[in-house]
Amino acid sequence: MLRFDLHVHTDLSPCSRLTVAELLAHARGLGLDGVCITDHHTMAAARSVTEGVQPDGLCVVVGMEYSTDQGDFLIFGPFEELRPGLTAEALLQLVDRAGGVAVAAHPFRPGREVPEALVRRGLCRVVEGRNGRNRPGDDARVRAWERAHGVGVTAGSDAHRLAELGRVATRFDAPVRSRADLIAALRRGGFRPDPRPVTPSRAPGSAAPRPRTPG
Ligand SMILES: [Zn+2]
Ligand SMILES: [Zn+2]
Repeated sequence: MLRFDLHVHTDLSPCSRLTVAELLAHARGLGLDGVCITDHHTMAAARSVTEGVQPDGLCVVVGMEYSTDQGDFLIFGPFEELRPGLTAEALLQLVDRAGGVAVAAHPFRPGREVPEALVRRGLCRVVEGRNGRNRPGDDARVRAWERAHGVGVTAGSDAHRLAELGRVATRFDAPVRSRADLIAALRRGGFRPDPRPVTPSRAPGSAAPRPRTPG
């Protein structure tokens, strides 16, 4: 069983102050086997870290958080040059055609809701259940989608600073050692939110106030 934080922002996102170097230095110590870097509309983190398994065993995958007027999506695949501005439907079709995978991020966040119709119609087959910034009750609403539509459910911290890294994670049954492995696993199944309760991190900076920046 592997424990991956599927939703992490580095300071390549304007709203985050977590550096790639901090992430690489601390992720294993926080009990993670893998981290997905999902900056807002950029995969530039791939320039400062070689994806795949690091010397300490941590698997790093670079994806992106893509915002549409029908919610935000974590996307994994060959999207280094992808421009913003697509509709959710166009994005989901493009990701599928490219052999990638899209995860509806925090689909019940106020103002950033993902329409259930995208899930019901099978355009989006993976949904983020637990998110480190979710409100109470959001997870249960995703579980209702899971029961109704059979979607896969992931979890991620949505960290924007070191103290948030790894507080929420996804468990994978099969090994994930690369971006391709992650995509295959998310398309195939065999993952679920890590049930471990969200506890305050021991990482430096944990006493800092929670930033007000959404997303
Ligand atoms: Zn995010
Ligand atoms: Zn952000």
